[in-house]
Amino acid sequence: MTESTPLSELPVAIIGAGPVGLAAAAHVIARDMEPLVFESGATPAAAVTEWGHIGLFSPWKYNIDHAARTLLEPTGWVEPNGDYLPTGAELVAAYLAPLAATPQLAGAIHTQTRVIAVSRLGKDRTRTPGRGDTPFLVRTQNERGEIEDHLVRAVIDTSGTWETPNPLGQAGLPAIGEPAAREAGLVTSPLPDVLGRDRARFAGRHTLVVGAGHSAANTLLALGELREAEPGTRISWAIRGSDPGSVYGGGDQDGLPARGALGTRLRHLVEAGHIEVHTSVTITNVARATPTGTSATHTTSELTVTGATPAGTVSLDVDRVVPTTGFRPDLSFLREIRLDLDPIVEAPTGLGPLIDPEYHSCGTVEPHGARLLAHPEKDFYIAGMKSYGRAPTFLMATGYEQVRSIVAASAGDQAAADKVELELPETGVCSSDIGSSCDGPSVATVTADSSGCCAPAPTGEAAEPESCCEPAP
Ligand SMILES: Cc1cc2nc3c(=O)[nH]c(=O)nc-3n(C[C@H](O)[C@H](O)[C@H](O)COP(=O)(O)OP(=O)(O)OC[C@H]3O[C@@H](n4cnc5c(N)ncnc54)[C@H](O)[C@@H]3O)c2cc1C
Repeated sequence: MTESTPLSELPVAIIGAGPVGLAAAAHVIARDMEPLVFESGATPAAAVTEWGHIGLFSPWKYNIDHAARTLLEPTGWVEPNGDYLPTGAELVAAYLAPLAATPQLAGAIHTQTRVIAVSRLGKDRTRTPGRGDTPFLVRTQNERGEIEDHLVRAVIDTSGTWETPNPLGQAGLPAIGEPAAREAGLVTSPLPDVLGRDRARFAGRHTLVVGAGHSAANTLLALGELREAEPGTRISWAIRGSDPGSVYGGGDQDGLPARGALGTRLRHLVEAGHIEVHTSVTITNVARATPTGTSATHTTSELTVTGATPAGTVSLDVDRVVPTTGFRPDLSFLREIRLDLDPIVEAPTGLGPLIDPEYHSCGTVEPHGARLLAHPEKDFYIAGMKSYGRAPTFLMATGYEQVRSIVAASAGDQAAADKVELELPETGVCSSDIGSSCDGPSVATVTADSSGCCAPAPTGEAAEPESCCEPAP
């Protein structure tokens, strides 16, 4: 592609080959346009692969995009049982990997290629004349460090939020010393595979889980199981609120039975003294401990975590910290793009008030498409998990409808773009019998008027804004 290639002959860039990015690529192909997909990970769906040990709460029938199915069917692909709840790993193995390997998509996906900037050819953010008819310039960096510029007609940013978890510290800022502890791997990813891939990092060690959402509950339960097999394992749990009860739910009386079961298991672990709970804690400092013993025996803690509480300062000596404090979007590579974002949740302005977790439970956002997701920058869209900014209630099915509409708009078919095609069932997509944060209550209604997860809106400061979409491992 050169600078003289007509705009309409340029490809559509898609940032991130997660479920929504791959669906976007399938819709681009269905519209006879060319997708150019950049994925920073070593394989498509790299983020889902990282949480592959977690079970989804939405069954297969809501996890497969229509245009993607059209690409898969001729390959002999066998569609999984629609009522089955896959794990993240199964989502990749039975759907996303075969989709990425279809002849139409295989050559279009560039793995180990990170988008580091998006702009308009020859125009920084301040230049207006002719902007909408100017190709986008997408700058990438591959695993060898090589930088390349690509000219494209439209950009769909589906890069998710997995790589940018919220910090541990107060006021949305990292605690002092937190970045170095993360760098050293002592503050881990939000959903480590405690009983599998990451077992050795936790076995026989003291782990502090921070946060009061269901990721915290899931990780605490996994650590509880590990503790039974590895008796030296210690578990602490710090929350900002004064009562962990909001995480336990209502037990047997809980309107969400699976949530109740998850909470009941967690309550038992706490009441049995297997988990030390620290309430009303605001973490201020994370410091590497000075070793005084031998690491082989793990008698010396690796970190000292300091927190402020109403009763004064607490100091916790631990080896690992698991932060389950939610996610935020990475907007850094969009500096040259004219965005219109809600000042609170950092979602597109029209969408922000509909999903603000301070006011909305899962399940209250209307299906939406290109119009709501548009920015002042023509033909630039943020879709998928990232489109929800800091709100935790995103569903894949919502993302599939977003990209169907966005691609229709990019192809000039505004009528199709405006037609809402998302149909979620009246019983909700979040039902699970494995202890999800989004377990479908018997009364949950997720219709075309109300997509999203089904857990009630968090209340109180104990309910930290993390994804409500994280079921039990
Ligand atoms: C544990 C967990 C369980 C969930 N369960 C469900 C569920 O049951 N049902 C449901 O509907 N939703 C669920 N969700 C919510 C959501 O649907 C998923 O997170 C889904 O993976 C979002 O898809 P995505 O394509 O928007 O983003 P992602 O899956 O995060 O994909 C983004 C991709 O972009 C890549 N990337 C990031 N930055 C760049 C860059 N600069 N350049 C190039 N590539 C980049 C990443 O490597 C990644 O592969 C869950 C989320 C989590 C975290």
